[in-house]
Amino acid sequence: MLVVMKRDATATDVEGVIRKIESLGFKAHPMPGAQRTAVCITGNPGAVEPAHFEFLPGVQDVIRVSKPYKLVSRELKPDDTIIDVRGVPIGGGSFAVMAGPCAVESRDQLLAAATAVAKAGAAVLRGGAFKPRTSPYAFQGLREEGLRLLDEARRETGLPIVTEAKDVETLSAVADCADIVQIGARNMQNFSLLEAAGQQPKPVLLKRGLSSTVDEWLMAAEYVMSRGNYKVILCERGIRTFETLTRNTLDLGILPVLRKLTHLPVIVDPSHGTGIRHAVTPLSRAAVAVGADGLMVEVHPDPPSALSDGPQSLTPNDFMDLMRDVRAVAAAVGLRVVQPGGLTQPAS
Ligand code: PEP
Ligand code: MN
Repeated sequence: MLVVMKRDATATDVEGVIRKIESLGFKAHPMPGAQRTAVCITGNPGAVEPAHFEFLPGVQDVIRVSKPYKLVSRELKPDDTIIDVRGVPIGGGSFAVMAGPCAVESRDQLLAAATAVAKAGAAVLRGGAFKPRTSPYAFQGLREEGLRLLDEARRETGLPIVTEAKDVETLSAVADCADIVQIGARNMQNFSLLEAAGQQPKPVLLKRGLSSTVDEWLMAAEYVMSRGNYKVILCERGIRTFETLTRNTLDLGILPVLRKLTHLPVIVDPSHGTGIRHAVTPLSRAAVAVGADGLMVEVHPDPPSALSDGPQSLTPNDFMDLMRDVRAVAAAVGLRVVQPGGLTQPAS
């Protein structure tokens, strides 16, 4: 259920609606938008009687949300959500590139990758400190030491950091360091982790599960938002299909569909989406053209020596070429590519 406020509703009117929702024992989620504020009701076991709200001051309409997800839905918030990550806007007509190594391996490796991606024009640095690996014998990440190195790379380059929280146990250490907390594909339906991520203040980058439908993915985002953290970035990273020539099948066709369903920003990861280095730049161009809000790309100073995902990692030179192509396509479709530091270049 949604309580849509009039355009000229005051803060006191919104407060009155929130108090009414809470007095009924439910949770109120006020969502200010460009045109109006809507207050979403969750926690109600059955239908809520609209008459509770219809005659409160400032209320324009009381609407039932038709989708199972509410807070992620465009019905609640018609305008795009823009998430500010230390001055870098994600969503709403700008294009932000997140890049860096799959895993933080050493100080030299991370600083080389970080300075290279910053120089090429990435807006956010990625790097895993806690790595979810298929094999228990594979490199699991530098863990706390990896976080410390990410912090150093942030100070060195000025780029905000996105890094993965692998479990509830390490979430608070990750959230203390990260500017964006990543929840990986394998954890998309780790409901305890989603709830815990919803109870901390950093933006959450939620990757699509290995074999998840869009409805399941949006319900996972709803878990985070239902706990009060509305800063969720969706990341399409490919799904498992019958095709085995690529690591995953990058589902770019879902971008225009997601645009209609949700106000949340959506970025694309062509590295995990294909698993093939030479496919990353072509799919990045396609992601810009199809209307994504950004990219997540793996870059390694020496891919053959990478401790994880070398075959899909770009060299710094490859990444320079990728950024050049991204800028060209962005200009053609009227998107602004976010510069390091968050300043946007005018669309030409
Ligand atoms: C990653 O981005 O480091 C990662 C492990 O990706 P995914 O969760 O999409 O497999
Ligand atoms: Mn990887």
